[in-house]
Amino acid sequence: MLGVALAIGLISGQVPIALLLAVLACVAWQFSKLLRFDYWLRHRSRSGPPALGGAWDDVVAQVLRIHRRKRYHKERFVTLARELRDATAALPDGVVLLDARGGITWFNRMAQQLLGLRGRQDVGVRIDNLLRRPEFGAYLAGGDHSRPLLLRTGEATEAWLSLHVLPYGEGQRLLLLRDVTRETRIETMRKDFVANASHELRSPLTVITGYLETIADDIALDPALAPPLAEMRRQAERMAAIIGDLLVLSRLEAKEEQVDGRPIDVAAMLAQLRNEVLARPQHPAEVSLMVDPNDRLLGDELEIHSAFANLVDNAAKYTPASGRIALRWWVDRDGGHCSVTDTGPGIPAAAIPRLTERFYRVDAGRSRATGGSGLGLAIVKHVLQRHGATLEIASVEDRGSTFTCHFPAHRVVAAAGNG
Ligand code: ADP
Repeated sequence: MLGVALAIGLISGQVPIALLLAVLACVAWQFSKLLRFDYWLRHRSRSGPPALGGAWDDVVAQVLRIHRRKRYHKERFVTLARELRDATAALPDGVVLLDARGGITWFNRMAQQLLGLRGRQDVGVRIDNLLRRPEFGAYLAGGDHSRPLLLRTGEATEAWLSLHVLPYGEGQRLLLLRDVTRETRIETMRKDFVANASHELRSPLTVITGYLETIADDIALDPALAPPLAEMRRQAERMAAIIGDLLVLSRLEAKEEQVDGRPIDVAAMLAQLRNEVLARPQHPAEVSLMVDPNDRLLGDELEIHSAFANLVDNAAKYTPASGRIALRWWVDRDGGHCSVTDTGPGIPAAAIPRLTERFYRVDAGRSRATGGSGLGLAIVKHVLQRHGATLEIASVEDRGSTFTCHFPAHRVVAAAGNG
């Protein structure tokens, strides 16, 4: 083009003007291509790529390639998001995603149904504004989310909801919801049945025990009947002990909340339990006591007594007369601790995790021979749970066992007058 302009310029004698016109035409031509390129970029979805020629074709091809790659990734992402949404919608559990301040970012259909959410309007709203229950507010704000919270939700009919908060990311939380009405109803029925059955069994047993005592005390009784009568009385006493323990367990189970409690003199309680062991006709030779008399435990005295008495009773029952028992109560930075150590037969490692199950016995024969109900450690576990405490069991077979109750620091106070 410049060549043609130069030739025209030379012929006409106006070289600069001819060249200038040529350059201007060139710029205008490229500018028109730029405009067409711009128009195509804006209306890419409606029109095909323009044929602009030269270097422009490379640019158009490059843009097409980038665009195709972007569309491919977008489609994949959308498909994945859709699949995830469909999968979570199909979950039988409710799922709610919460941001750091408790605002709802997303929820599935089941959560909408269980919490009565209104769809998009509720996105961004704080969950504790929608579910206005003090227990839930405390659970959400609290630090311990290891266990779900059980909430009664139904007004007319009884309905129960299990809510479990699972933290993830940077302060975000996942709230899992489950309708546990059926399970809770069955559990309540089971508890009621055990409590009622134990209660109903107690009266006839009292009558039987009473008559057995009267007959055994009868001087005119044939001496041959004395041994079977004694055995019947022993078995009746065992039944009474089992029923008594079942009722204690039922009462403990009925109380869900944690104990507030008053200061308990654990040192005095252990000293009394020690005396009771020494007063038995048969007891381990040595029962030592190492206690911190200045610290008090905050709890329910009757419940704590029944827990410690069970541990001491087991140690005394399972330890031979030549053995030793040690009772300890001490306080450190972690809280208060009460331990019962014996030199009895010990417990196999495999049995330790199952020890607090109802009626679980390591050696059924041995337990029955000692008159055990198989419920003692289940009672201990429940009492400790109600005090926010844990039970640690350490044992070596043929060497002995140590049962330690660990109480949290807020349950320990100094005795009045000791600062
Ligand atoms: P039980 O009334 O039968 O003693 P527990 O619930 O108190 O029931 O204890 C459960 C089982 O744990 C017992 O049957 C016994 O086998 C075992 N056990 C408990 N304490 C001791 C101990 N100090 N030494 C050895 N075994 C023990």
